Amino acid sequence: MTANCPVCSGSGTVLRRLGAEEIAHGLQAVFGQTPPAGAVPGDYDLVECAGCGLVYADPMRAGGAALYDWLTSFAKYHAQARWEWTRIRDILRAEGRPLRLLELGAGQGDFLETLRDLPQVAAQGIDLSERSVAKAKARGLDVRRASLEDVIVEAAGTYDAVVLSHVLEHVATPGALMAAVGNLLAPGGRILFSVPYSPMSREYLHDDVMNLPPHHMTRWNIRALEGLARVLGLDLETWMPKAKPAWKRALKHTCDTIRGEGRVRGLARLPVVLANWGTFRRVLADHRARERVGGRPAADTILVSLKREK
Ligand SMILES: [Zn+2]
Repeated sequence: MTANCPVCSGSGTVLRRLGAEEIAHGLQAVFGQTPPAGAVPGDYDLVECAGCGLVYADPMRAGGAALYDWLTSFAKYHAQARWEWTRIRDILRAEGRPLRLLELGAGQGDFLETLRDLPQVAAQGIDLSERSVAKAKARGLDVRRASLEDVIVEAAGTYDAVVLSHVLEHVATPGALMAAVGNLLAPGGRILFSVPYSPMSREYLHDDVMNLPPHHMTRWNIRALEGLARVLGLDLETWMPKAKPAWKRALKHTCDTIRGEGRVRGLARLPVVLANWGTFRRVLADHRARERVGGRPAADTILVSLKREK
């Protein structure tokens, strides 16, 4: 039987089945190395919730240390600066009061580093990776090795902001995680988190293995986020960057599908598109029909605030 939705408990429909070997091959194609044993723990179904529209893996068995020790050994796996970090800074500054902030999954402290010149924000971070915590400490940041469970016991109700940058889509129990994070909030405090917005531009044509389990366990859209806010009893607010124009996305994705991801760039895309005009037209129609959020075409990432009442 198909597992129920990990956010709203609604029933789900299987979108597709994924074999462990297929996923491992996909990872090998991206990173040029065979993933280690245990990195892909088994087969999965990709399931869509009838209640809230969340797409989730069944079983919800997230990648463990075997997967993440391997992935984090590649420089290209680590995030560069993200647009939402700047937006979070603006939100914190606009609060105009001293804030206690905790980042979950702080890694080597790339986001916390951007808060250095906001003296009213007392920022801390936790992470499970020894290597990342050591790097963050060497930068003079207040990051320590701890789990969410450790923090909940000692710091319930004390944070004005809890930040999770691309964490939620990786975890096996997103509803329970966010409920636990909600317990950390002081009155008037908020969770600020970012996730990929689904469907991402590239979901249309081919499956990006990095958007499949055991790496991404859930895919979020506005309905699923509203469902999460409802379940937690918190107020939802969202921000998105401006999406690239439909024709630009369609050009890239037509070429990526036909020639492989990132192989054809710039003007060299034109002959590929002309030779595959029917495909391009179909892709363009998909992109034009892209869902709108807040009156604008959806981009590939969303920043979400879940605020507790004062
Ligand atoms: Zn649901």
